[in-house]
This record gives sequence, C-alpha cells and structure tokens, in this order.
Amino acid sequence: MDMPSNRIITIDGPAGSGKSTVAHLLAERLGIDYLDSGAMYRAATLLALRRNIDPADGDILAPVLEEATLRFEWTLSPPPLFLDGDDVSSAIRTMEVSSQVSEVARQGIIRDVLVRQQRRIASEHPQLVTEGRDQGSVVFPDALIHFYLHADPAVRARRRVDQLAGQGTMVKLEEIIADIERRDRIDSTRSVGPLVRPDGAVDIDSSSMSIEEVVEVMVVAVETVLAQEGGETC
Ligand code: C5P
Repeated sequence: MDMPSNRIITIDGPAGSGKSTVAHLLAERLGIDYLDSGAMYRAATLLALRRNIDPADGDILAPVLEEATLRFEWTLSPPPLFLDGDDVSSAIRTMEVSSQVSEVARQGIIRDVLVRQQRRIASEHPQLVTEGRDQGSVVFPDALIHFYLHADPAVRARRRVDQLAGQGTMVKLEEIIADIERRDRIDSTRSVGPLVRPDGAVDIDSSSMSIEEVVEVMVVAVETVLAQEGGETC
C-alpha cells in the first residue's frame, strides 16, 4: 500500500493491550516508522531514578528532562531509545520503572516536554504509527486514523507476564495485575492527557484476537480510509 506523506496513525489503549507489538507490526506492514511514546515516559522515569529526583516532583524533573538527550535510533526496527547516549531500551522495562511511570506521566509539566518532542519526531518522520495513551486525543488529533485498542485486564496481565518471561524476566501474575490496575486507574483519571477513546476512533477489543488478526483489521481500516480519501479528491 502506498502511504501518502505526512500521515500519522495513532493507537491508544491501556497497559498490556498489545499496542507496542501491534503498532510495530503495522508500521512494518505499511513500510513506515513506529513511535513508542510510552518509552519516552519510561525514560523520563529512569532519568529521575538515576538522578535521585523524586518522580512526583515535575518542577525539578521537567528542566532536567528538557536538558537530557532522548533519541530513537531510527535505522533499527523497532527503534531502540537512547538516553544521553546510553541505550535504555531494557532498563526502561523494569518493574521499578513500571511501578513509578504513571506518577511521572500524570504531571502536565512533564507531558508538555514530551508532547513537544513527539510532535517534533512526527515532523521529521511524517509517516508514522504512534502508540500511547493520548496520541489520538491530544498529540495528533488530525491523524489519518485513530485506533483504540483494549482487552480484558486478566488477558492483558497474562500477555505481559508471557512477554516479560520471553525476555527472561520472571514475575508473578498477581504483581502484574496490581501494576496494570494501578496504572489504568492513574492513567484514566489524571487531569492532563488521560487515557480516553479518541473521537471517531476505530475500537478494537483484542481479548480473543491474535496479534495478526488485530494487525489485519487495522490494515483494512487504513486501506478503507485511504480509498475514501482517494474517492473524495478525484
Ligand atoms: O505504553 P507503556 O505501558 O509502556 O507506557 C508506560 C506509561 O507511560 C503508561 O502507564 C502511562 O502512564 C504513560 N504514558 C502516557 N502517555 C502516553 C504513553 C504512555 O501517559 N502517550
């Protein structure tokens, strides 16, 4: 499929809904770039931990984050994330970071810094599948298409346990369920950029779908929008 330039596809949804895997595969299918916005909030959290800054103290953390260099290596797929020259792709996935990231992400002063960086990335990578919590609702409301991907909490927890096990990290299911429930609660109730279903989003419940099925549904939806646009401009 030929993607027109300057086109953004957003995928938002709760923790463990499969967004990262699906977004990466969709981007590969379409031959376009993939942005994991959650990785940026995780890197901000890691930065706080490394600099001994209270993750809840956005006034201290935001200027430090602004000064830091957060960079994706776009030649690789998925692009690893570097914080001040250090590949932090694994370090941002620890339970220590996961358990504190929502505290960091609930602060408007932090979101302002990262939303600006996400928009700059999109200006440099105008064909982009981007995933997170607010990508459709706040960061890219004019995207080509918005998806809202969700699944039952128990299914999401099981997937996350399997994913971490695949990376060699053994965790207890109960610990993951508690982490997912806490993050869902904070992410959906915060006052800035809460997790919401963007207006007009294609809603996908992936509880009983495979990753491949979800990607297929998305490819068809993208093709449909592009065909409609083509029809309108003819
Ligand atoms: O996507 P992932 O689960 O890795 O995101 C980690 C955390 O980052 C989320 O729980 C949420 O608190 C925050 N986040 C956010 N807005 C985004 C992406 C992630 O607040 N666009």
